[in-house]
Amino acid sequence: MKPLLEVDQLRVSFRTYGGEVQAVRGVSFSVKEGATLAIVGESGCGKSVTARALMGMIPPRTGQVKGGSIRFRGRELTGLTKLEWQQVRGSQIGMIFQDPMTSLNPTMKIGQQIAEGLIKHRKHTKTEAKEETLKLLERVGIPEAARRFEQYPHELSGGMRQRVGIAMALACQPQLVIADEPTTALDVTIQAQILRLMKELQEQLHTSIILITHDLGVVAEVADHVAVMYAGVVVESGPVGEIFDNPRHPYTQGLLQSVPRLDAGKKERLIPIEGTPPDLFRPPAGCPFAARCRFAMEICLEHMPQSNSFFNQHEASCWLNDPRARGVEAWMVARR
Ligand code: SF4
Ligand code: MG
Repeated sequence: MKPLLEVDQLRVSFRTYGGEVQAVRGVSFSVKEGATLAIVGESGCGKSVTARALMGMIPPRTGQVKGGSIRFRGRELTGLTKLEWQQVRGSQIGMIFQDPMTSLNPTMKIGQQIAEGLIKHRKHTKTEAKEETLKLLERVGIPEAARRFEQYPHELSGGMRQRVGIAMALACQPQLVIADEPTTALDVTIQAQILRLMKELQEQLHTSIILITHDLGVVAEVADHVAVMYAGVVVESGPVGEIFDNPRHPYTQGLLQSVPRLDAGKKERLIPIEGTPPDLFRPPAGCPFAARCRFAMEICLEHMPQSNSFFNQHEASCWLNDPRARGVEAWMVARR
């Protein structure tokens, strides 16, 4: 079966006073129907920019999709006009933001906001749209939907607002939903509820999800596949079990080591990865992780590692895994 979404060698840059920032530098991944792909990485790694590119929301005054392709159900989305993007957004690709206030209009009743999308994209009458909205509010676990319909965003708690955000994203039954840190602003119990809700709705509606997060706990909870981003590139990707059990890239290994393990019975110390990501004004010619990698070799500084494939669509871009880098294993052993 063909994937619902195929992203190939996507590149996005921004113009700043300091020069051009290459925020996304050749990112590729795909999302299958009904599956969840998590894109993980530290802040500034390009994951949100990638998400914005998939929604046609790179601000044209400062940013630009420089290359690559985004194919959604076989249709190329790069190069769509503003109007064409508006038709895709909401009806085919839904969005859930970290702060639901980003998508909600503070001066409009929440019910009206959801209904508006249904009238615009689904050609519902006002009455139909209201009925459908009430059903949606119930579906996302908002009690007393009729009363909530008439309320403004500020009258709701953060968790409730995010439920409204989810209702809005799903209103027109998009095949793909992109959620950028949807639970980061919420406290832990509400986070778990929202994740559970997203999962339930996904199962009912068979929606594909791209989940942008820096939280590996969230990834373990909901994702089928994972793409790990670092400095504007995907350094490792694969099924969630493979990534957690058998990480191949030192950066992924570092990320996993920095997560507190709840199953360990006691609190384990977080091991932060030392150093900072490279400057994307002048990205390094070689491996972007080299400056922080304890396995770095000469070849890493000079040449960008290529992607190597392992079992079950697991891929990583690191010279340690590359048979072309001769003598690597001996070197690793010596250094340990
Ligand atoms: Fe480390 Fe080299 Fe692998 Fe980059 S390519 S992660 S520097 S070993
Ligand atoms: Mg972000």
